[in-house]
Amino acid sequence: MTTYSAIITKVTRQCNLRCNYCHDWRSKGEPMSFEVLARLTSSAMSTFDNVQFIWHGGETTTVGIDFYERAMFLQARYLRSGCAVRNDIQTNGTLIDKNWASFFADNGFGVGISIDGPPELHDRHRRFANGKGSFTSVMNGINQLRSFGIKPSVLMVIDKDTLELGAQKIFDFFLWMYLLRVYEGG
Ligand code: SF4
Repeated sequence: MTTYSAIITKVTRQCNLRCNYCHDWRSKGEPMSFEVLARLTSSAMSTFDNVQFIWHGGETTTVGIDFYERAMFLQARYLRSGCAVRNDIQTNGTLIDKNWASFFADNGFGVGISIDGPPELHDRHRRFANGKGSFTSVMNGINQLRSFGIKPSVLMVIDKDTLELGAQKIFDFFLWMYLLRVYEGG
């Protein structure tokens, strides 16, 4: 089994959501520049034999597919013989369409989706700027990924509302999500 050195890379603090427990979206900072991306890639891939880039935000898809196409170009440029590179990305899922899903599938990305459980829980905290809950958009993104053969993992924030809903309901939700909405496309 290949062992990787993981580099968690924050590409931007900007986001299309306004989750009420997050401060990243308030940031005025710029996304990572090409110069920084190139230096990071060169440095990581000359220091370690096997590198895992874990792309984080903010919302990682707000920088556009171009950003990751450039990352793929740089990784191919700096990959040394006998070494390996892999990519994983964490996203809120709301901007994932066919193009993103196709790109992730073509380039072997592992995809983690941020979702806080069933809609009554998720939409309490994870809303768009207009106040609308993001649950439906997240599920659309997940189904796009599934249609390209990607099985996303899940990152979930647990707070007192989660605890009040109870472990059984959370477990039932994720079972429903994978068995019904995702695997059967319902
Ligand atoms: S999706 Fe992530 S980065 Fe965006 S507001 Fe929510 S927690 Fe923050």
